[in-house]
Order: sequence, then structure tokens, then C-alpha cells
Amino acid sequence: MFAYSRAEDECRSVWLRRYFGESDGLEPCRVCDVCMARKKDGRKKVSPETVAKLVHTGPMTVKELVARFAAEEPDDVLAALDTLIADGRVAIDPTGIIRA
Ligand SMILES: [Zn+2]
Repeated sequence: MFAYSRAEDECRSVWLRRYFGESDGLEPCRVCDVCMARKKDGRKKVSPETVAKLVHTGPMTVKELVARFAAEEPDDVLAALDTLIADGRVAIDPTGIIRA
């Protein structure tokens, strides 16, 4: 029934739109229960480990990666990604795909 499971911390709107094949401009809605819970938690930094775990599930573009982190600031996701690249744990190929 479900093509793939939804990450616990993924915005419901982003997940739904991705489920129906959208991949561009997926921004967290900031009003669903997942986004609200995130807001209540306050702003958390994205840990490189969390990003690494996601990248290990399969190749994805930077845009897709950022979209997977519902209520996080894209800059925080990119900072975590930079750390992983600097450590040689992930790489971005010439087509913009992140690979573990
Ligand atoms: Zn949301």
C-alpha cells in the first residue's frame, strides 16, 4: 500500500507531495503536527550523523536532502553535509547527486 515509509521527522506535506511524484520546491509546511512539534522543540542543529544515515539510504540531490529535513534550516543541513564532505564520508558527483 505504501511505496515507502515516512521518516518520523518528515513534514507530512512534503512526504505527501513526494509520494505523488513531486520533487521540486518541497518546503516544509510549518503547520502540520510534525512541523509544530519541531517548532515546540526549538531550533536544533542538524547532526552530520543524521545526514549520513539518510544519505546511506540511497543517492539523492542536495535539494532532496534539504527537503527531508522538515523544519530544519537548509543552512544547518548544508553545514552538516559540508562536515561529511570534509571528512570524506560522502561526496557530490558532477550531476549534483550526493553519494555515501
Ligand atoms: Zn509540515
